[in-house]
Amino acid sequence: MNNIYLDHASTTKLDSRVLDKMAPYLTEIYGNANSVHTLGRNAIKGLDEAREIVASLINANFNEVYFTSGGTEGDNWALRGFYNQRGNKNKIVLSSIEHLAMLKTCEHLETKGVEVCKISPQKNGIVNAVDYKNQIDDNTFLASLMLANNEIGSIQPVKQVAEYSHEKGVCFFTDAVQAIGAIKVDVKDLNVDMLSFSAHKFNGPKGVGGVYIKNGTKINGEILGGHQEREKRGGTSNVAGAIGLAYALKYSRETLEKDALYVTNLRNYFIEKVLKINDKIFLNGDRESRLPNNANILFSGISGESLLYKLDMQGVYASLGAACSAGSINPSHVLTEIGLNELDAKSSLRFTFGRENTFEEIDKVIEIIKNILKDL
Ligand code: PLP
Repeated sequence: MNNIYLDHASTTKLDSRVLDKMAPYLTEIYGNANSVHTLGRNAIKGLDEAREIVASLINANFNEVYFTSGGTEGDNWALRGFYNQRGNKNKIVLSSIEHLAMLKTCEHLETKGVEVCKISPQKNGIVNAVDYKNQIDDNTFLASLMLANNEIGSIQPVKQVAEYSHEKGVCFFTDAVQAIGAIKVDVKDLNVDMLSFSAHKFNGPKGVGGVYIKNGTKINGEILGGHQEREKRGGTSNVAGAIGLAYALKYSRETLEKDALYVTNLRNYFIEKVLKINDKIFLNGDRESRLPNNANILFSGISGESLLYKLDMQGVYASLGAACSAGSINPSHVLTEIGLNELDAKSSLRFTFGRENTFEEIDKVIEIIKNILKDL
């Protein structure tokens, strides 16, 4: 049997059209985009093309898009960059279900004396925007809320929280890493000051991402070095990566509505079938306001780790929470934050679907889960 990949929130397969767009920049146009000779100038043309495509797709200006090594760097940049511009303010307000790239960086800033205020979500995995409003005060230099959660897919009230932040004159950052290939992202409509994204989540290459930084936003560059990215992010430009990111975003946007509908139907079909297996199986997170591709399932009384390995042995690839926390002995912070006890959090698996999955595959996976549960 062919393998069945249900782990698209961890990463996705490179689109072959994207590889074709990248190939010339890895071979004949290999120049350094900072070199003044023709080969360098041809490379910079590629970088400009990539920036132009990304800017138009997220409704930003050309000079508001910066390329990075991925989502982790973007998240670090936002927190550290604003910290270094904080003046006499000392507080960050963010949700307790952010990605570890955010939470670990906040832990680091706490050791420097920053007050970190974490807003817990409601039981459905969605934060209440008013909780932010109540916490953002004169001492706050940054508020942050992810656009969609990576474990339970819950879509967050970013526009509302951005508005509350701006009412108090506070900069607002959103981590859009999970959202951007799956739902339409428009930085002007969301009214954010800064937003991070990562190519490998939407059929682009790994190790490249970007941030949108609204013109006029006061933020330091954090990777010091050469003059790249308008003096804000040193390091030889990854032109092939930037082109890969741009075209992956372009292609995903071209079929976004169609793919979202298909993947939502596939995901709902899976949820319906899996919940019917027995009465100890539940859906974690909100039913409606979640990313099209996400189903996070609690198999009460079952070890999530054993189930995951048994699925793997049968060629079905799912995930225990976020890929980066898989292997950690701690239960997922997102699941405990929405009220699951430790045991239930460890009995939950994340299934994330993609446009290449089929209904036939779902039927197979359901049969496999049924058989495994009999043994466990
Ligand atoms: N933020 C979120 C919400 C994510 O899901 C991830 C990756 O899973 C990241 C940040 C980190 O992105 P990257 O893998 O590009 O460093």
